[in-house]
Amino acid sequence: MKKAICLLFFGLLSISLRAQVPQSERVVSYHIKVRLDPERKTLIGTQTMTWRNTGPTPVQALQFHLYLNAFRDAKSTFMRESGGEHRGFKTGGKDTWGRIDLINIRQTNGPDLRSRLYFIRPDDGNPNDFTVAALSLPEAVAPGKTVSLEVQFQAKLPRIFARTGWATDETGHPFFMVAQWFPKFGVYEPPGRRYVPTNAPTGRWNTHQFHSNSEFYADFGSYKVEMTVPNGYLIGATGRETTRTSDGNQTTFVYEAHDVHDFAWTASRSFREFTTTWKHVKIRALVQEVHAAQGQRHLDAAITALSYFDRWYGTYPYDTLTLVDALSGANGMEYPTLITCGTSYGMPTWSRFLEAVTIHEFGHQFWYGLVASNEFEESWLDEGINSYTEHKIMDAAYGSGSALDLPGFPLSDGVLQRLSFTLDRANRCVVVTDTWKFTSDDAFRTCSYSKPGTILAALEALLGTRTMQNLLRTYASRWRYKHPTTHDFMAVAEEVAGRPLGWFFQQYLFSAATNDYAVGDIRGKTVWLQNLGDGHFPQNIRFVLENGEIVWRYWEGRDQWKAFSFPKNIRAVHIDPLFQNRLDLDRLNNQKTIAPDDHFSGPLKRRLLLWIQQ
Ligand SMILES: [Zn+2]
Repeated sequence: MKKAICLLFFGLLSISLRAQVPQSERVVSYHIKVRLDPERKTLIGTQTMTWRNTGPTPVQALQFHLYLNAFRDAKSTFMRESGGEHRGFKTGGKDTWGRIDLINIRQTNGPDLRSRLYFIRPDDGNPNDFTVAALSLPEAVAPGKTVSLEVQFQAKLPRIFARTGWATDETGHPFFMVAQWFPKFGVYEPPGRRYVPTNAPTGRWNTHQFHSNSEFYADFGSYKVEMTVPNGYLIGATGRETTRTSDGNQTTFVYEAHDVHDFAWTASRSFREFTTTWKHVKIRALVQEVHAAQGQRHLDAAITALSYFDRWYGTYPYDTLTLVDALSGANGMEYPTLITCGTSYGMPTWSRFLEAVTIHEFGHQFWYGLVASNEFEESWLDEGINSYTEHKIMDAAYGSGSALDLPGFPLSDGVLQRLSFTLDRANRCVVVTDTWKFTSDDAFRTCSYSKPGTILAALEALLGTRTMQNLLRTYASRWRYKHPTTHDFMAVAEEVAGRPLGWFFQQYLFSAATNDYAVGDIRGKTVWLQNLGDGHFPQNIRFVLENGEIVWRYWEGRDQWKAFSFPKNIRAVHIDPLFQNRLDLDRLNNQKTIAPDDHFSGPLKRRLLLWIQQ
């Protein structure tokens, strides 16, 4: 018992020390004071934002994201790309738009610098896009030095559309999801960071416009945010609440967060709050009144996610996790230490949608939050790895009915994910693509989520489950806080696997290659097998000969055609019966027999299950 208390004490001590000792580079810091006006749906804010030059040369101009300007009108790049529709939610019409304006910007005690501010459109040159600004400083920031800016801003939140804004909840109260809401530094990449060569003479800014199909990229730092709302509102936010003070009609909540790269918050009068603790993590679920019966379900799903990640992929380093049951288009999103989930009234327990979304969004704490790859340019490093870990955890925690547990017809998250890859018309997209360059929303989704999720499942089949866990754990710990690229992931994979994997990654991440192995005609003692795709994957094949003898053969799978011959007549052939090649687009053509096969003459349910497993 004493030993347990000691361990607990030192455990808590090490966690609180970790909060003070920088875990990341902390290139930026923000101290924001913001007041929410629920009537006008506006934010009035002042912020001190500090940036450190990590490059080898002086930097004259800074770059900022002003994400809310994506919702100014229909002419922004985001709106032109989305056509006013995002993840199935539409915008347009009265009171739906949003924007952010800088009222004042100056260096501490310096003059107003607004005349030195200009908008840039590095991705598409759209003159009507105002989501990225640059500021030419009176004096360049020397290497290793910091610059602090005092910024006053005013923002109008859009009606919730793409992750952020306001909506009216079922009790008639306004709900606010305040995300991508403050002037935020772009990322200055010094030589050696990501794709900037180590011997480059200078660093360069990486500040993309806000696109319909892209998420985010930012530097790590510290945040202190003071949010003032009318009394009666409950708030959830990134980080930890440090103080709460009431002043007449208003309450100010102060939150702090360190070693994170974004800050989001939510406010509502009608949240129901549920709390629990898992190891060092205080978990809080803010649930819509009408979903109060599912409060515990949210907490349980979060604990499942924390436990499996801890066991398989690494320790969650923060001491808070806030789950928000948001409204409409704000659900299913991740911010550091805060995720939005999503459920519906009376969701039955046989539907694990709530669990899947919660486990998925929690997974982003690792693949988006901690390693912080560039989601504009390599979305698969976040969404793809996360789709893979989502299905691993869902299937391990909830079994064959991990997605839908209908009596007699279970459907797992893993099966569902593979189906959404194989059945999608856009599945010949190239995974490593700048997100705004995908030719369709479908291609973006497939190539960011289900396709890379399936690619990693195939990699697991090649390497073994233990090695795959070790690979992801090594990647997550080595690249924690360091912004890895696809090539960094590949290097870890080859190192952990102890063998070259370029042949695999080049095909499936950098080209549109797919594979589909099929059995041709069985002619006596010979059978021809075919690869109908242009990618390859090693195959184990089972043959049944006329005397009932079972013979296994290995085929590298590189040729388009391959003949196998035996001394006896062949009765049946089954390519990949152990289902290692998760990428095979059509498994219905993987087997053939010259006698009626019980697989195909079985009852309807069995045939249906076979189809679903394809
Ligand atoms: Zn996601």
